[in-house]
Amino acid sequence: MTPNEDEAVIFDAVDQFLERDVRPYVRALEAADEYPAEIADKIAAMGLFGATISEDYGGLGLSAQTYSKIVEKVAAVWMSVSGLFNSHLIMCMAVERFGSDEMKTTYLPKFASGELRGGIALTEPDCGTDLQGVRTRAEMDCDVYVVNGTKMWCTNALNGNVLAVLAKTGQTQKSVRNKGMSLLLVEKEMGYKATKLKKLGYRGIDTAEVQFDDVRVPVANLIGPEEGKGLSQILAGLELGRINVAARGVGMARVCLEESLAYAQSRKTFGKPISEHQTIQIKLADMATKVEAARLLTEQAAAAYDRGERCDLEAGMAKLVATEAALDNATEAMRIHGAYGYSPEFNIERYYRDAPLLCIGEGTNELQRLIIAKQLVDRNPV
Ligand SMILES: Cc1cc2nc3c(=O)[nH]c(=O)nc-3n(C[C@H](O)[C@H](O)[C@H](O)COP(=O)(O)OP(=O)(O)OC[C@H]3O[C@@H](n4cnc5c(N)ncnc54)[C@H](O)[C@@H]3O)c2cc1C
Repeated sequence: MTPNEDEAVIFDAVDQFLERDVRPYVRALEAADEYPAEIADKIAAMGLFGATISEDYGGLGLSAQTYSKIVEKVAAVWMSVSGLFNSHLIMCMAVERFGSDEMKTTYLPKFASGELRGGIALTEPDCGTDLQGVRTRAEMDCDVYVVNGTKMWCTNALNGNVLAVLAKTGQTQKSVRNKGMSLLLVEKEMGYKATKLKKLGYRGIDTAEVQFDDVRVPVANLIGPEEGKGLSQILAGLELGRINVAARGVGMARVCLEESLAYAQSRKTFGKPISEHQTIQIKLADMATKVEAARLLTEQAAAAYDRGERCDLEAGMAKLVATEAALDNATEAMRIHGAYGYSPEFNIERYYRDAPLLCIGEGTNELQRLIIAKQLVDRNPV
């Protein structure tokens, strides 16, 4: 698809930012697992913390199609940078779709500017895929909820300052698994404690365990007019989340191909470039085909999202194919680069460490298959 004029301006700015402010620093920041604070500030200055927030609230109001192309570009340079604003924008989506007018006018402009930035706190020590098992509780006490529990693997919890937290509310909270879950907007200054977790890849950006001990949250910070809607609210937000993870997959699968294609033409064995050996050609052909399939499915899912259609099947397929493409292409890039793929002097070992996360986050790929199958049956009754 050829970008329109507005898109072309944004893509150009993103390309310049990536070449000038990100690429030269990736290796050092990644090796040190250091939070890219200056990069985060530049993302704020570019308005990307408000990429999908509507212009009424100070955002850029980008379509999912434009947004996903930006995510692809960013992930192709350093996937961690896309994490700075991706889960933040899922939180924003939940507020913009389901929050009260007061919540929207209070929070969305600050989210868009990056003054408040954060993400989503769903996963717990004992549940990730099965969110119905959430144990974090939010008990109403006059005009506040008192929140207690532990969340795991929360991106942006340490360096960010706000989270959308999935917690059990109301009478059903102790006995009934799948009822009574609500989303609360909790600011760090209300008192949660985040502890950084170590990771194989996706370094630089923080991922944390978050402890809530009697954290008092104003009742007005409940997302949505009533309790008990949190799971469906966050699942709606995860459609966009899955499209953006798919876009990350496209970016990573593409860069693995590009670097392998260049390397295969310069590395010689048995008197000729390895790109002239058929086994390497087959790898390159498979890698390129996966990139195209991943991109087309991602564009298709983003277009369905932009039309306002329910698109969990499309987003699930895009996420599944694009993230498996990233993982496969990272593995093949490692093989094509031989020992150099194993060295931190090349980017391949980073891609090899970063890619598996894509198959786990925003719903594992096993879960995506279950969603796709359920949708197939629902959409094709006999
Ligand atoms: C770096 C990183 C960042 C993250 N960021 C966030 C974040 O910001 N916020 C957040 O809330 N979470 C975050 N997560 C957590 C992530 O969303 C979960 O890890 C993911 O949902 C899977 O949950 P789990 O790890 O508990 O695995 P489990 O749910 O325990 O699953 C284990 C395995 O069983 C499979 N499985 C489970 N149920 C089924 C089933 N019914 N049928 C078939 N297979 C099944 C899974 O696919 C998986 O292979 C992050 C994780 C990582 C690693």
